[in-house]
Amino acid sequence: MLSFVHEITGLRTPTGIIRGCFDDTDERRQANRAIAVSALGLAVTGIIELIIALITSSVGLLGDALHNLSDVSTSLAVFLGFRVSRRAACERYPYGLERAEDLAGLGVAVVIWASALFAGIESIHKLVTHQGTSHIAAGIAAAALGIVGNQLVASYKLRIGRRIQSATLISDAKHSWLDALSSAGALVGLIAVALGLRWGDPMAGLAVTLFICHVGYEVTTDVSRRLLDGVDDGLLMAVENAAASIPGIGHAHAYARWTGRTLRIEVEGWVDPTLSVHHADELSCRVSNAIHQAVPEARIITFTPRAMPPPP
Ligand SMILES: [Zn+2]
Repeated sequence: MLSFVHEITGLRTPTGIIRGCFDDTDERRQANRAIAVSALGLAVTGIIELIIALITSSVGLLGDALHNLSDVSTSLAVFLGFRVSRRAACERYPYGLERAEDLAGLGVAVVIWASALFAGIESIHKLVTHQGTSHIAAGIAAAALGIVGNQLVASYKLRIGRRIQSATLISDAKHSWLDALSSAGALVGLIAVALGLRWGDPMAGLAVTLFICHVGYEVTTDVSRRLLDGVDDGLLMAVENAAASIPGIGHAHAYARWTGRTLRIEVEGWVDPTLSVHHADELSCRVSNAIHQAVPEARIITFTPRAMPPPP
């Protein structure tokens, strides 16, 4: 079967080579730096919280520390995956190692669920055994640090995200903003303990555990969807409409899947069976351009011309 493959870095067109819309090396560098700086800030916050949690035996603080550190591990996995996935394809891995990030994501999901389980068990244990909390002032300071740390990271990511118009970074900023609420939960628990309500801290611990479960759920669904080759709703429709909008294409069928950060699109287009290979190639360039316009994240587009008329 005859197919034309278009890799969108230097897009081939009937009139020559045009630059793709992906000349975003500088923006990507800024995004990477923002994620790295944020991860470092969160790691310092999380480690301090963890140490204070061990000193005060506050489970609210423990949960919040584990949450912040698991967020750091998520960023780390994205980074590692990104580095590994840039390795060139070889004979053994013809598509490269792009899915390393998904593999790392599975590991992160396990870490998050394990920390949720740990924080949950510790909280229930503290609740039923009526254990006390010591050095409450230090605990309150650490929880406040959690709030400030997450807020700083959130506003920083939001600023960079808006500047380079990165949806990922902006939604990451929202995540950090919400995470400040988790730290606030730990803070409220400790204030309750300071006011004489012993159960304040374990209740806060349980609330923070729910927060961690929420993150675990999001990471797990995201990774599973990628591993199962899921794509966003409406993507195939957009591709098929774009392909069919090109004169000479009677009908189009599309398939798509992500391998790591590469969105691969396969499209079959029903064309005039007397079309020469040369003209079919030209047509495939037009189809590829139209798909790229409609779906900017498309990286590799494979076009296969089929003889008209289309099947019923
Ligand atoms: Zn988080």
